[in-house]
Amino acid sequence: MGSTAPEAEHVDVLIVGGGPVGLITAYQLALTLPHADKRIRIIEQHPKSSQDKYSRAIALFPRTSEVLDQLGLADALAQQCFACQSSASAVWDFALVLRQKYQEEVFRTALKEKGIMLEAPVTLVDVAVDEGLKKGRVSQHSYGPR
Ligand SMILES: Cc1cc2nc3c(=O)[nH]c(=O)nc-3n(C[C@H](O)[C@H](O)[C@H](O)COP(=O)(O)OP(=O)(O)OC[C@H]3O[C@@H](n4cnc5c(N)ncnc54)[C@H](O)[C@@H]3O)c2cc1C
Repeated sequence: MGSTAPEAEHVDVLIVGGGPVGLITAYQLALTLPHADKRIRIIEQHPKSSQDKYSRAIALFPRTSEVLDQLGLADALAQQCFACQSSASAVWDFALVLRQKYQEEVFRTALKEKGIMLEAPVTLVDVAVDEGLKKGRVSQHSYGPR
């Protein structure tokens, strides 16, 4: 019995991995890419709610919080975290203590607000470069300033 190959799907950006780096990369792209919800897909092999049973990262240090603040993501983390600090000086001058699974939940929620859902469980099993594919034209208007 012959099998039919699934129809190819095209996407401008495929992000593999729904950890902090994948989620924040997708979010950062979504902030700048027009029609990002139709052009970015992010996949994760594990159902994320169950993967990090015992968590991994727990503390974010000031520079990380500052970078996340520039993306508009730090306030939501700060609402849930334990702030480990010796003084109340600079805005993000403390270790932001929150289990990674909850940090990721904040990033997934922000991404969802941009119309992009983490697709899980979906595993990338192989990558092939199709040299025969007709190259698309990149519009300067769509991708950024001239
Ligand atoms: C015990 C421990 C404690 C830590 N504590 C801290 C801390 O306090 N502070 C801190 O900043 N960092 C800490 N870290 C480091 C932090 O967890 C990592 O830096 C962070 O998880 C890296 O994020 P990432 O997105 O690059 O990778 P990951 O979080 O590993 O995410 C990669 C994702 O890709 C998915 N994936 C892989 N292959 C495929 C595939 N083929 N198809 C689909 N999906 C795929 C994986 O399932 C995974 O979810 C700690 C790590 C550990 C292990």
